[in-house]
Amino acid sequence: MGQTIAEKIISAHLVSGTMKRGEPINIKIDQTLTHDVNGVAAYLQFEAVGMDRVQNELAVSYIDHNLIQADFRNSDDHRYLMDVAAKHGIITSRMGNGICHQVHLERFDIPGKVLLGSDSHTPAAGGVGMLGLGAGGLDVALAMAGEPFSLKMPQIVKVNLTGKLQPFVSAKNVVLELLRRVTVKGGVNKIYEYAGPGISTLNVTERAIITNMGTETGATSSIFPSDEVTKAWMRAQNRENEWHPLAADPDAVYDDVIEIDLAQIEPLIALPHQPDRVVPISEVEGLPVDQVVIGSCANSSLQDILSIATMLENKSVHPRVDAGLYIGSKQVYLESVARGAFLAVIKAGVRVLESGCGACNGSGFAPPTNGISLRTTTRNFLGRCGHPSGNVYLVGPEVAVASAITGVITDPRKLGITPVEYQMPEKFMIEDNMFIYPSQNGSEISIRRGPNISPPPVLEALPDVISSPVLIKLGEDITTDHIVPAGANFLPMRNNTPEIAKYVFHVVDASFAKRAQEAGGGFIVAGVNYGQGSSREQAALAPRYLGVKTIIAKSFARIHLANLVNFGILPLVFINESDYEKIDQGDYLIIEFEAILNKDSATVTNKSKQLDILVKSPLTSEELEIVKKGGRLNWIKLRA
Ligand code: SF4
Repeated sequence: MGQTIAEKIISAHLVSGTMKRGEPINIKIDQTLTHDVNGVAAYLQFEAVGMDRVQNELAVSYIDHNLIQADFRNSDDHRYLMDVAAKHGIITSRMGNGICHQVHLERFDIPGKVLLGSDSHTPAAGGVGMLGLGAGGLDVALAMAGEPFSLKMPQIVKVNLTGKLQPFVSAKNVVLELLRRVTVKGGVNKIYEYAGPGISTLNVTERAIITNMGTETGATSSIFPSDEVTKAWMRAQNRENEWHPLAADPDAVYDDVIEIDLAQIEPLIALPHQPDRVVPISEVEGLPVDQVVIGSCANSSLQDILSIATMLENKSVHPRVDAGLYIGSKQVYLESVARGAFLAVIKAGVRVLESGCGACNGSGFAPPTNGISLRTTTRNFLGRCGHPSGNVYLVGPEVAVASAITGVITDPRKLGITPVEYQMPEKFMIEDNMFIYPSQNGSEISIRRGPNISPPPVLEALPDVISSPVLIKLGEDITTDHIVPAGANFLPMRNNTPEIAKYVFHVVDASFAKRAQEAGGGFIVAGVNYGQGSSREQAALAPRYLGVKTIIAKSFARIHLANLVNFGILPLVFINESDYEKIDQGDYLIIEFEAILNKDSATVTNKSKQLDILVKSPLTSEELEIVKKGGRLNWIKLRA
């Protein structure tokens, strides 16, 4: 029987396990990437492992997420990241060089290899046929130390593309269409593998937009074949020697098939506060807009910039609208300057901002109170833009610009602008001087740590009997932005667990941290898809620091589940989802750890209501052992 692309890559990297769907596997990691906001914790953990040099083929540390240097904290973090990279054999991509996924696509992604990133949008690498996997910083630190990465063998779903996108309906709308159909939970434990005649109509950066935001479906990854389109991209990046073809075998068998006719896709928009609340633009046309942000790893390629520049030619941004553009990379910046694209953009009144994530994670450009912000970014969770009263709508760059011009949500096809077909350059301008390559002799480097950088907390083993109150009962689709807030005020605290722990669940219940500490810890109860969104491990570590030892939910998001294991929190799922109703905040629960081991079901006693509830653990026996020891670092030290 033939293999899919994902099966080919996974089988070539398999360290242990079988390809049976849902079974645990360990795979070898070729490349790693980190970014500044999660990277400091990742490298502190790498240091704690005690390895001198990274062991994988390539490790890159991007400084792209939080570039605001309003006080010493971010500047110190950036300096620490550069020191630690130079010492341990890691390439630094400096502040201003661009967003990790765009830059990695340009300079490092290789078809057929596996990339592990401490960022949930690492599947952007699927644009060139590389398997990109998002993970917590500790998993990435361990991959840098040569450890394989553990995951469940996903199902492989074929997404068969036919037809060609219409003018002003760009690639963002393809993934919005997928989200509309499958929702933010539809991709859990799946890899979306793109195929069909429609793929040849999409260039590499269009493909990367689609694989990047496949993350929003909860998917493990998304991937395109490596073909002549990929070869042309790598040739234009002066990396043709790293290209090789990669396609599914004709007789490959998929677990499911989704059909998408590109020609039928309309301009779409995701309503606040979930990326799957997707409707045709016609349903919200005319709604006044306060702010427009173009950028993020999903929409800041050269094609995006040239597209908006064409649309802004001889136009003005509406007086009501504050419009900004974050550029994806220094390379995109250079190409845009050389083509004069910024003339139209600046003349129209768009604020051209630096190469980085910026508004996407709330570090700058927050909307006004109760304001409407149209963004080409990846996700629109409550509070992600910097505060919970902002209403973020997700769109493609053409809808964003059309709306910036008119001041209301607008279908770009109605502006009467003549579309211009994008031609990718035969050779991009390549100027790699913002990469810092590591020292050959790391022992010469001493690492400078600012006062905001606190060492990872020491976690105790879990007790044999966990008995404590329910600290909070949450609803469905709780995101990592709910758990640990985004925004410029909070991002520098991510390297300081005691500090960020004060703000756990701040956007939904500002008294949580105080209550947790007064109670000496306790349980969290939640609905489906708990922990969706980013890979930020502080969303596990900070609650653990406050004493949370167990979370009972209807289901968990993949990366967050792995982070719970890494930081010694026991995840449990309801066997009967309706039992969620049998627990309230403040109830006192008791469970014996032993009861979970190797059992299909275990009993949690709700002492307050005098009833028993059946639960089970979604973890393997090895993961349960890690949790019992108080997390993966403890487990590794004890194992050694
Ligand atoms: Fe940066 Fe936003 Fe992309 Fe995350 S999703 S890497 S914050 S641009």
